[in-house]
Amino acid sequence: MSIAVEERPAADFIARETHYGARNYQPLDVVLTRGEGVYVWDVEGHRYLDCLAAYSAVNQGHCHPRLVQAMVEQASRLTLTSRAFRNDQLPAFYEELCELTGSHMALPMNSGAEAVESALKTVRKWGYEVKGVADGAAEIIVCSENFHGRTLAIVGFSSDAQTRGGFGPFAPGFRMIPFGDAAALDAAITPNTVAFLVEPIQGEAGVIVPPAGYFARVREICTRNNVVLVLDEIQTGLGRTGKLLAEQHEGIEADLTLVGKALSGGFYPVSAVLSSSEILGVLKPGDHGSTFGGNPLACAVARMALKVLIEEGMIENAAAVGARLKAALCAIRNPAIKEVRGRGLMLAVELHLDAGGARPVCERLKDRGFLCKDTHDHTIRISPPLVLTADQADGIAEALDAALQG
Ligand SMILES: *Cc1c(COP(=O)(O)O)cnc(C)c1O
Repeated sequence: MSIAVEERPAADFIARETHYGARNYQPLDVVLTRGEGVYVWDVEGHRYLDCLAAYSAVNQGHCHPRLVQAMVEQASRLTLTSRAFRNDQLPAFYEELCELTGSHMALPMNSGAEAVESALKTVRKWGYEVKGVADGAAEIIVCSENFHGRTLAIVGFSSDAQTRGGFGPFAPGFRMIPFGDAAALDAAITPNTVAFLVEPIQGEAGVIVPPAGYFARVREICTRNNVVLVLDEIQTGLGRTGKLLAEQHEGIEADLTLVGKALSGGFYPVSAVLSSSEILGVLKPGDHGSTFGGNPLACAVARMALKVLIEEGMIENAAAVGARLKAALCAIRNPAIKEVRGRGLMLAVELHLDAGGARPVCERLKDRGFLCKDTHDHTIRISPPLVLTADQADGIAEALDAALQG
C-alpha cells in the first residue's frame, strides 16, 4: 500500500500546512510534488529549474536514479541496527569517505548541526586531554555572520539577532571575530583557545567569499598556536564550489572537516566529522553517539552519493558551468545589481538597497519557472544541482535579466 498522492489545489495544501505546522519558515507559495535532475514540478504541473538545490543538499540532482536504486535496495535489506551492533555498510562508507577526502577517521552523524555539535565536543575534549587546557576553560573562536545550524549551543554563538533572540541562556566558551580578518584571529587566540570554527565561504550570510590568502594565514596561525582548524564544509563541500572541498581552492587542509547536506544527495540526513589527524581519537566508547548515526541505510545512500558525484564528473561540471553562469550573471546590465559573487555553482547576486528587495525578484523568477531563494533581503542566491548544463545556465541568467526588469 502506498501513501496516496492527493489531488488538490495548491491553496489547499498551503492552508493545511499553515494551520497545523509550526510557522518557523516562510516558503515561496509553490507546492512541489516531483523532481528529476535540475527540475521540480508543482501540484499544478508547472515545471521549475531548482536554483537552490535544498541549500546544496541535492548537488547530485533530484531523484538521481542510482541513488533511488541504492536506497530502495538497502531499505529492503537492512535499515537500522544502532551502533550497539556492527553493520556491513559502515566500514565501506568510512573507507570510501576517508580515502576520497584524505582523512584518517570519520564520525558519522545525521544533520549538519549534529556534525557541528560533535566537532565542538571533540575539540573541547582534545583541548583538555591533549593541549592541557584547564578543565572548563576551553575557548572556541567563531566568525560573525556565521551559520552552523540551529541547536542551542550553535545559535548561542550566532551574531544574528533573530537566530539568538528569545533562546538564551547560552553555553559559554565562544569568542567572535570578523570573517576574513586573519589579524583578528591572531589577536583573539589565548592559551585556552582549542579551535577556530569557520566556513570556507559563508553561505547563509549571502555567499561571502573571504579575501585571497585569508585561509593560508588562518592555517599558519592555527598551526603556530596549536589551535584546531575546523572547516564547516556542510554547504561548500562535495563539489559545490567546483572542487571536492572548498579548502582545495585555498591550498590548505583543515584539522577537522564537517560534511553533510549533499553527502546523501538529499535522500536522507547524513553528516560526518572528518579528521586529518588523531583528534577524533580522543572520543572513547560511551563519550558520544547517535541512534541513527552510521546506520546501514545512511551508509549505502552516502556511498552512492559520493560515487555518482565522482563518476559522473559533477565536480568538474560545477567548475565549468559555474564559471559560465557567473560570467553570464556579470554580463547582465541592470543598475539594481550591486555585486555578483561566488565560486563554482555557489553564486549570489546582491541588489542595491533601493532596488526593492530580492523577494519580489524571486517571485517573478518563480513565475518564469526558476526557484531562487532571497537571503538577507537584498541577495538572491543561485546554487542549482551540479548537473546543470550550459544551456540551463544561460537560461538562469536570461530569466534573472528579465525578472530584474519587472
Ligand atoms: C546547512 C548548514 C548547517 C546545518 O545543517 P543542518 O543539516 O540543517 O543541521 C551547518 N553549517 C552550514 C555551513 C550549513 O550550510
